[in-house]
Amino acid sequence: MSRHAVVVGAGIAGLTAATSLARSGWRVTVLERAPELSEVGAGFAMSRNAVAAVRGLGFDDDDVAGLGFPTYAAGTWDLHGEPILTISDDPEVRASVALIGVHRVRLHETLQRHAAAAGVEVVTGERVTDLEPGEPHGAPARVAGREADLVVAADGMHSAVRARLFPRTTARYSGFSSWRAITPGRFGDGALRQYWGPRAEFGTMPVSGTHTYWYGYVAMPERTTIADEHAAATERFADWAAPVREIIAATPPEAVIRHDVHHIPGGLPRYHAGRVVLIGDAAHGFLPTMGQGAATALEDGLCVGLLIGAPVTDGAELAGALARFDAERRPRCRALGRASLASARIGSHLGGGWRQTLRNALMRRVPSSMIQRGSHAAMGWAPPTR
Ligand SMILES: Cc1cc2nc3c(=O)[nH]c(=O)nc-3n(C[C@H](O)[C@H](O)[C@H](O)COP(=O)(O)OP(=O)(O)OC[C@H]3O[C@@H](n4cnc5c(N)ncnc54)[C@H](O)[C@@H]3O)c2cc1C
Repeated sequence: MSRHAVVVGAGIAGLTAATSLARSGWRVTVLERAPELSEVGAGFAMSRNAVAAVRGLGFDDDDVAGLGFPTYAAGTWDLHGEPILTISDDPEVRASVALIGVHRVRLHETLQRHAAAAGVEVVTGERVTDLEPGEPHGAPARVAGREADLVVAADGMHSAVRARLFPRTTARYSGFSSWRAITPGRFGDGALRQYWGPRAEFGTMPVSGTHTYWYGYVAMPERTTIADEHAAATERFADWAAPVREIIAATPPEAVIRHDVHHIPGGLPRYHAGRVVLIGDAAHGFLPTMGQGAATALEDGLCVGLLIGAPVTDGAELAGALARFDAERRPRCRALGRASLASARIGSHLGGGWRQTLRNALMRRVPSSMIQRGSHAAMGWAPPTR
């Protein structure tokens, strides 16, 4: 009889892990607290490593092409629109920062379709509040009244499973909140452009031939309530470069959403406990400043099947497979978490005045070869072979 895994959370990490496990011969049940499957949010920049992960999951050329708009990271400008660091048009450098501008809903729908095709059962309206982690060599895990050989905790930044198993590791408010929207129309040159100002960042990127995603990441007290988000974003960026003001002005007010941004500095000290493996934001929620949260959620999810599901199906011990997953994933995710913090310090979290002037002057000297090397470390990832 096949082994049974329960996945907590049907976000990007959970659906990817469920599909990867089902493809390696497991029976998989996903428990999702929301009454129906959906994805909140707007767009995201899908870097090469994220594309490698979805291809590893079985996405074909049509699936990948259907996700969004092929583009690249063009660089960073200051709030007045003066270049700070621009990517050269050398084809090799461009290829190293290639992206797909993805509408999150489209990625989520494609993940749902692959999960259904792999035979994954998804139960919605089921909020997990209780969990017994079991023992890798002994008792099964128990979660929401179900027995499981493996539990995958993919329940996001404020994970209930993490709170139960690692109560000392908690998500912290970053000090920043982020407006996001998808606006009808083409803006700019069709690339991902980011603008840095004192304690703020603005970014735009096409997600199709007809729609453009933007975000405005700004310092703000936690849980600030704003009656009119569109008006507040308009005011906050009123003295920024014309492309910033123009896309906000063109956005229907009801399309603007805002979320406080949290992170887990350092991530968990271990990504498993008992028969439970923790993945995605539940294990290592990053600041969004490297755009790697969803990408690593996809990597983690794929690796649950490759490094735990498949070896256990072939007779390996669960304890060893969990340890291998931890050894493969934790150093990489810790490094990306550190890089996201460092990027925030010199970028969107930096204060005003001389700091901006000095940073901009130094960054204008950065050669393209350095950008290429840096992006390869993060985005040159390929799925592990067994
Ligand atoms: C402003 C911003 C911009 C970003 N931009 C990018 C980007 O450009 N590129 C990128 O790679 N990443 C980006 N990210 C990060 C990315 O969005 C997240 O890292 C990613 O969505 C995490 O996926 P996840 O599946 O781990 O968690 P989530 O997407 O949070 O999914 C968790 C799921 O678990 C469910 N759940 C929670 N608790 C329970 C429970 N107790 N029982 C059952 N179900 C439960 C939730 O309803 C949800 O469906 C950005 C993040 C922010 C905040």
